[in-house]
Amino acid sequence: MAAGASTDLRREGGGRSFMLFVYLGLHLGAIAIFWVEVRLVDLILAFVLLQVRGFCVSGGYHRLLAHHSYCTSRLMRFLLSAGACTALRGGPLWWVALHRFHHRHSDTERDTFSPAKGFWWSYAGWLVSGRYDQTDYNQVRDLARAPELCWLNRWWLLPALLLAAAVLLLGGWTTFLVAFCLSSVLLFHSMAALDSLNHYIGRRRYDTGDDSRNNFVLALITLGEGWHNNHHHYQSAANSGFFWWEVDGTYTLLRLLSWFGLVWNLRKPTPAILRRNLLRRRPSSSRSEEPSLRRTA
Ligand SMILES: [Zn+2]
Ligand SMILES: [Zn+2]
Repeated sequence: MAAGASTDLRREGGGRSFMLFVYLGLHLGAIAIFWVEVRLVDLILAFVLLQVRGFCVSGGYHRLLAHHSYCTSRLMRFLLSAGACTALRGGPLWWVALHRFHHRHSDTERDTFSPAKGFWWSYAGWLVSGRYDQTDYNQVRDLARAPELCWLNRWWLLPALLLAAAVLLLGGWTTFLVAFCLSSVLLFHSMAALDSLNHYIGRRRYDTGDDSRNNFVLALITLGEGWHNNHHHYQSAANSGFFWWEVDGTYTLLRLLSWFGLVWNLRKPTPAILRRNLLRRRPSSSRSEEPSLRRTA
């Protein structure tokens, strides 16, 4: 599936406006837990599904597919990508194309979800606007050579439907509302917070030419993705937390998988890279400082 794919194929992968109703339905399902008897096992399953799906997006879509920051088998790559599809943020090629575009045009007029375009736009508006429903194959020519990833990009809603059906059949309606709907809603908001707040609230350690920030709270709830200024500084690293105190759940899990030989060649920044382009210490930027678009594109 190459850059010259048909219009229909390019419109697959995500960004469709009907997803607004899917997200609204999930929110209604999550609110409905107040009218059912929630069991501890449902909450535990919700936590597990939240973390596993978050890891598949962070460790699979982001650090593996978008940045090739470590190596794994083709089967493992497919499983991580299918797991990431269940997060309902789009298919692998669509997601990666947008993400690479974000890195190329961070905080410029062309950046898809820069908070300088408005908080709600960067939080969720862009996702359900229907304006980004095409997979830009020019950004993902490497991944488009893999037919199984192209297949997933076309049928990206299928893994989520299968997961929802499995949870419903195995646990019943209460488990479905808690473990699937509630965890999907929490996942939705953690991903939306990444899109909007990672370039808005937090400290900047490196001069990256954009507005990317490091945010401890975001890093905690998103398995390390909150160390976003670090990540913009050196995108090829498997670790976004560069120091021991920068909690990075994704990297911890990747190291765990490496002990079992499931992933390998995890790339880390060298000491020279860690020292490069350091900003002088000064009062951190905060929400009082409005983000602005860079004029260069
Ligand atoms: Zn960014
Ligand atoms: Zn990235």
